[in-house]
Amino acid sequence: MQLTIHGPNLNKQNKGTFHVHTAGCRDNDREVKNNGSVDPYTAEFASRDEVASFIYADHMAEDPSASVADYVADFHFAPCCDALPFSTSAKAGKPRSQPKAAYKVKELKFDAKLVEQVAKRRAGGESLATIAKALKVTTGKAAMAELVATTPRVAVADPAKLARAVAKDRKAGASWGLLAARYGITEGTCRAAYTAASGQPWTSLDYRRKKAEPKPATKAVRPRRQAAKRTAKAKAAA
Ligand SMILES: [Zn+2]
Repeated sequence: MQLTIHGPNLNKQNKGTFHVHTAGCRDNDREVKNNGSVDPYTAEFASRDEVASFIYADHMAEDPSASVADYVADFHFAPCCDALPFSTSAKAGKPRSQPKAAYKVKELKFDAKLVEQVAKRRAGGESLATIAKALKVTTGKAAMAELVATTPRVAVADPAKLARAVAKDRKAGASWGLLAARYGITEGTCRAAYTAASGQPWTSLDYRRKKAEPKPATKAVRPRRQAAKRTAKAKAAA
């Protein structure tokens, strides 16, 4: 449906910050002449959700916890829009004009002392499990500390560039942890960056499945574990 959106800063806002009419509605003139509408925006929309997503894309990206409905409430859809469905997603599974995914860069704040301690002990030949136990942290945290210690830091200031770099590396098989260590950002930021650059959910690539493929360059963590399982099974069967 071709719609014309008026607002914000309309004279009369008791019905909504934005007023929406069909593009052909005569009330569009009234909104401009009598209601202070400046530069109304006309475009094709399939649902009320789409209108709200279009106007509030930036807000939504900043606050993912808010639902589209919260934003739709800010719009007065005039009776001429009655035929406009509320949601595109219910019908088509996905909004047609998804707002361009923006994301916030959160710096990785990792305990420098822990990184140093883990690196030192690793150099001394201790296993990650032993180190984790000694330092009273989870093995995962010790592993991350090692990643931070051993991964050369790459600084990318431009968020769009950073997102592309993350997506590229991820597609090449890098783990979220490695990406976090490499770019000095949280794993959550890495995932959001991947989605922003690729337009795909961050779960779209299964890194683990990829790692399980026989490749001489990668460490055979999984196959070894599987082999151990097989041995245990064989023992149990014997
Ligand atoms: Zn109207």
